[in-house]
Amino acid sequence: MTTEVRGAAAVNGRAAVPGAFDLAVVGAGIVGLSCARAAALQGLRVVVIDRDAQANGASVRNFGFITVTGQERGRTWNWARRTCAIWQEVAREARIPIVQRGLWMTTRRTEAVPLLEAFLRTEMGEGCELLTPEAARSRCPEVASGDVRAVLTSAHEIRVESRQAIPQIAAWLAARFGVTFLRETAVLSADPPRLETSRGAVRAEAVVVCPGDDLIGLFPERISRYGVTRCKLQMLRLTDPGFRLPGAIMSDLGLLRYAGYAALPEAAALRARVGAEQRAHLDHGIHLIAVQSGDGSLVVGDSHHYAATPDPFGTAEVDGLILEEYAAALGRAPPPVLERWTGTYASAPDRAMFIDAPAPAVRIAMVTSGSGASTGFAMGEVVVAELFGRSAPR
Ligand SMILES: Cc1cc2nc3c(=O)[nH]c(=O)nc-3n(C[C@H](O)[C@H](O)[C@H](O)COP(=O)(O)OP(=O)(O)OC[C@H]3O[C@@H](n4cnc5c(N)ncnc54)[C@H](O)[C@@H]3O)c2cc1C
Repeated sequence: MTTEVRGAAAVNGRAAVPGAFDLAVVGAGIVGLSCARAAALQGLRVVVIDRDAQANGASVRNFGFITVTGQERGRTWNWARRTCAIWQEVAREARIPIVQRGLWMTTRRTEAVPLLEAFLRTEMGEGCELLTPEAARSRCPEVASGDVRAVLTSAHEIRVESRQAIPQIAAWLAARFGVTFLRETAVLSADPPRLETSRGAVRAEAVVVCPGDDLIGLFPERISRYGVTRCKLQMLRLTDPGFRLPGAIMSDLGLLRYAGYAALPEAAALRARVGAEQRAHLDHGIHLIAVQSGDGSLVVGDSHHYAATPDPFGTAEVDGLILEEYAAALGRAPPPVLERWTGTYASAPDRAMFIDAPAPAVRIAMVTSGSGASTGFAMGEVVVAELFGRSAPR
């Protein structure tokens, strides 16, 4: 059975969709779809409910960069490895193109080299290699022609075009497993076996709330316990530079943002030098990610500004600083800008994600570190294991 229910009209007193479900998922972003996938694989009857007509949140505004190397040591790194493996399965089954593979962490400061060497000595260095400037130049002169001190390459990463991949996952879940999608429908309360929505009641034995950065719609008192706020990012799409990137490109600033590197003691010297040389970048939370699409265009970002309600405006100053970092890292001027947008995600001061249990049959699943595309599928498995008592990876 494939059901896609659309239309905004409320259906007072009547069920929004007939029948009952084992699991209702609130939110059709990557975290909600991950929970729906895990439940559908167990043979459970699943409904996914979202207030938007189509995916419009962080899950389609991101880089589509499924990152393993650099994720915080421990659970986040483990979940990222698991999630990356699942992405490859899902991409195959749902016919989602993997448009790019691998990571090139290019560094232009000598202080970065001992940090990368220390990283390689940890378990997180698996699948990574440290290239000299000469070796990097011989593999990709277009990227390594600038002021490069070393390049850490990682084979783990993959990239999808999120604005196409997210709708494709939803369509695959509906077609392959009969997952019901109820769109243009706000969930007003979730007290299983009954959810109240803007078009009537839905019956489900269990509920998982995956609200992205909506911190006040459902269970606000539970979410506030984690000190969650919202983070705004500025993003750009640039025209095809005329060559293929050898992987996603990051730079020194990324070594200070990604906890897998930044938490190592060897990061201190780099932090001090970047602090003295790139104050404006650090004040705007800027680091570089440059990824490439099938048509050759680049998605480049980003910045981080925190507020309960971030303003929706992107500034030319921040875009300029992002492009300045692109030019410094690649040793070449950035190509012209095609698109600009902002996105927001939930952010907590001291954790990358949480699964909260306001009631035995209810979970809130929230990624609070801007890594939901990289950790969501593993999180979905854990949520479904908690609710339905089946095994999930650690
Ligand atoms: C610019 C940007 C770049 C990023 N880059 C990356 C990246 O490259 N790699 C990576 O791993 N992560 C990245 N992230 C983070 C990642 O995109 C997020 O962590 C992830 O998308 C969060 O997914 P989600 O499903 O929780 O939220 P969302 O995608 O925001 O989805 C939440 C959904 O819930 C719905 N909803 C909320 N409340 C209700 C309700 N009461 N009733 C009905 N519907 C409701 C909303 O309508 C929304 O559709 C980036 C984020 C941004 C903003």
